[in-house]
Amino acid sequence: MQHARWMKALPEIEPFYAVKCNPDPYVLRLLASLGTGFDCASNGEINRVLEMGSVDPSRIIFANPCKATSFVRNAAKAGVDMMTFDNTDELYKIARAHPRAKLVVRILTDDSKSLCRLGLKFGAPLVTVPALLSKARELQLDVIGVSFHVGSGCYDSGAFADAIQRARMAFDMGKDAGYTFSLLDVGGGFEDATFEANSAVLWQAIENYFPERGSIRIIAEPGRFYVSKAFRLAANIIARRAPQADDACDLDALTGSDEQSSPSVMYYINDGVYGSFNCILFDHQVVTPYALCLNGSFHIPASEPLNASSVWGPTCDSIDCVCTLTRLPSSLAVGDWLAFENMGAYTICAASQFNGFEVSNVIYTSGDGLGAAEVRRALATYAKGLESAAGREAL
Ligand SMILES: *Cc1c(COP(=O)(O)O)cnc(C)c1O
Repeated sequence: MQHARWMKALPEIEPFYAVKCNPDPYVLRLLASLGTGFDCASNGEINRVLEMGSVDPSRIIFANPCKATSFVRNAAKAGVDMMTFDNTDELYKIARAHPRAKLVVRILTDDSKSLCRLGLKFGAPLVTVPALLSKARELQLDVIGVSFHVGSGCYDSGAFADAIQRARMAFDMGKDAGYTFSLLDVGGGFEDATFEANSAVLWQAIENYFPERGSIRIIAEPGRFYVSKAFRLAANIIARRAPQADDACDLDALTGSDEQSSPSVMYYINDGVYGSFNCILFDHQVVTPYALCLNGSFHIPASEPLNASSVWGPTCDSIDCVCTLTRLPSSLAVGDWLAFENMGAYTICAASQFNGFEVSNVIYTSGDGLGAAEVRRALATYAKGLESAAGREAL
């Protein structure tokens, strides 16, 4: 589904899926069979992709500009030649550990309109690029092109256009340094909701700044766009803190309605910010739960009265808050299930087992409408052990 959208909007840009976003084996296998490339940041990720046996190392870009020397050496051994750099030290390292590498200079772009600003850590400012390239020449390294990342969760299409303009300048600097660049890597940052709009702006910029691009291969490193919608999370309510029945009456009497603005009920679920919801802390996400299963039924009547509620993770840390204020059915009780949409990107892959809570299980469904029954069956089974589960739909 997302791949079809990609091919329609950006048919001339080859996606190299950013493995860090969700290295689930089924995700990787599906994308491998669809023919995408892979953006890996470590030996572990490279091994994971190559272990599938169906991906040639030429379909991998080692897109981490600051790599351990041993990782560079291992990439050389594995036949992974394409890799990024943004500093001189990296060039010395690569000259020693993988002199035949095909290098891509990662330039700094404006990431101020994105959720996760990557420019704080990576990217060579354009003014430093000529010196970097002449150092690469001196070390007899092969630089084949330019990459950038506008920042993860980019909400301003102008950032893509601006980045392409800078990439054009870097291409020209390449020419001055004696290189003929053949690769343009437009990075990641694509979002589900704004994908078509941002792609159109990106492509227009490429048309403008690279009108003659017959000899240039264009690739991208989408992560979030491919997987965010592919996973949902179901979490079990393991505890609840609610006012006594009498208090609740008083509260209603005081407010005169159920339009409370501060949560009166606290729900505790079996996944939290130390688990799949680490995306709240690290990825600046806001999640909204809905009642998935109430008193054993997956049919939640629209007439169910709602209560202002907060939702908390299972650990003993008070930072472990999933949702500070939301409206949930007032009859929701311990044993019921909450669900969260769009939980595929930067979630379970960065989950910890802090406080002894296990990382949520993944249940794979066929995504053809039969999936719902599979998930219900699995949840019923899990409910017995009060474990949590994530259901997945087709990409
Ligand atoms: C994280 C990352 C990506 C993926 O970014 P998304 O915003 O998920 O598309 C791509 N390239 C590099 C180098 C990254 O670090």
